[in-house]
Amino acid sequence: MNYKTNIGLEIHVQLKTKSKMFCGCDNNAEGKEPNTVVCPICAGYPGVLPVANKQAIEWTIKTALALNCKIAKYSKFDRKHYFYPDLPKNYQISQYDLPFSNHGFLEIESGENPPAGGKKIHIRRVHLEEDAGKLLHPEGRDDSLVDLNRAGTPLMEVVTEPNITSPGEAKQFLQDLRIILRYLEVSDADMEKGHLRCDANISIRKENEKELGIPVEIKNMNSFKMVEKALVYEEKRQKELLEDKEKVERETRGWIDTKGITVSQRGKEEAPDYRYFPEPDLPPFKFSDKYIADLKNNLPELPAEREKRFIKELKINHKDAKNLVSDRLLADFYEEVIAQKADPQKAANWVLVEMLGRLNKKGLDITQNRILPTELAALIKKIESKEISGTIAKEIFEEMFESGKAVPDIIKEKGLKLLTDETSLNKIVQKIIQENFRVVCDYKKGKVAALQFLIGLVMRETKGQANPNTIKKLLEEKLR
Ligand SMILES: [Zn+2]
Repeated sequence: MNYKTNIGLEIHVQLKTKSKMFCGCDNNAEGKEPNTVVCPICAGYPGVLPVANKQAIEWTIKTALALNCKIAKYSKFDRKHYFYPDLPKNYQISQYDLPFSNHGFLEIESGENPPAGGKKIHIRRVHLEEDAGKLLHPEGRDDSLVDLNRAGTPLMEVVTEPNITSPGEAKQFLQDLRIILRYLEVSDADMEKGHLRCDANISIRKENEKELGIPVEIKNMNSFKMVEKALVYEEKRQKELLEDKEKVERETRGWIDTKGITVSQRGKEEAPDYRYFPEPDLPPFKFSDKYIADLKNNLPELPAEREKRFIKELKINHKDAKNLVSDRLLADFYEEVIAQKADPQKAANWVLVEMLGRLNKKGLDITQNRILPTELAALIKKIESKEISGTIAKEIFEEMFESGKAVPDIIKEKGLKLLTDETSLNKIVQKIIQENFRVVCDYKKGKVAALQFLIGLVMRETKGQANPNTIKKLLEEKLR
């Protein structure tokens, strides 16, 4: 029997605003002592009044626009009631029936041969709420501690429709979403640090059935890899249940990474369980067409558009364009190299293979890169104009990467210069020809590759400092 999979994602994004969602507390509690970034509002004291963070609302609308959503002209916050030890108010301020936005989509390209133009993953809504605190379970204690530093942090929630059809697609969607969030500069979106948290619901149905199967919600996935692994596991578990004519329970399951399995946690709550009602302390919002249009017009160029522009205008290959735009700062660096009139495809190779390769190997990111874009452009142009050979270029690059020095300085310091003196080069050429009689014969018989081999020998003899074109010219003259 063949089965079809449907996956929907709920992604919580911690916004990096200066202050919290409804109070003036510092929103950056990273590394701070527990319960030191707390005030009566985020600690949920009775009688306090929340004031909404304008920046957080703007960033939510910006993100929604980047995800092609319809922005609501009228919206409000609601109270969502539940008891949890790290939620002192016993309700969370969230959005229920009138979220800031809905009906969007994001096009993703996933798998070996993605369809042209990508696949549209539909977005149900993007809304805003506040985060709860955290429970700490220190070792050696048999009780738990509450840290409210995170309570009241602005949390944007992106909910997709269940039209994701494989675990790989789910992972791709998350990765693409993260790139967009970083382009918009609304969140660091680091999954390992909890800036980006993902719950997934997954259902399986027989191929000929129209209705979606019973969805199971999975929680506790802290990396892209975990999301994919947990979904692969759950897809298999549900298929096996259906094969055995058993029923899939509607429930919430937690991913246990160390064991590679999901386990049942609880039955799934439904909306009525939360007794939503409009937040009486925050008046509803009205957004004018102009306000929305202004935000839309001020969106930065997004990765998908940038990728298309790189392919169309710079004529670089698809894969390189995709890799370059995957990090906004990397693409910015690349554009600065190109601005110096360096060849776009060659510059892409240097940036992606040599520079990014070395950075990755050392566990560094682009902000820790020491190479100046102007210097990389200068290096590429020197290779183009045959002033330096590829071997010398690599040596200069290596030094540039380590020290951040300029090309002319490195050439001077290392005493790297090109052998352009034809008399001394001629001597080497003569020597190589004498030592390689058989190769010379091959060349005379018309084997073109033989010449390339001889050029290589001369290059090695000159330690790569000679101009290959000059060597070729001299060799041909001698051989004639
Ligand atoms: Zn506070």
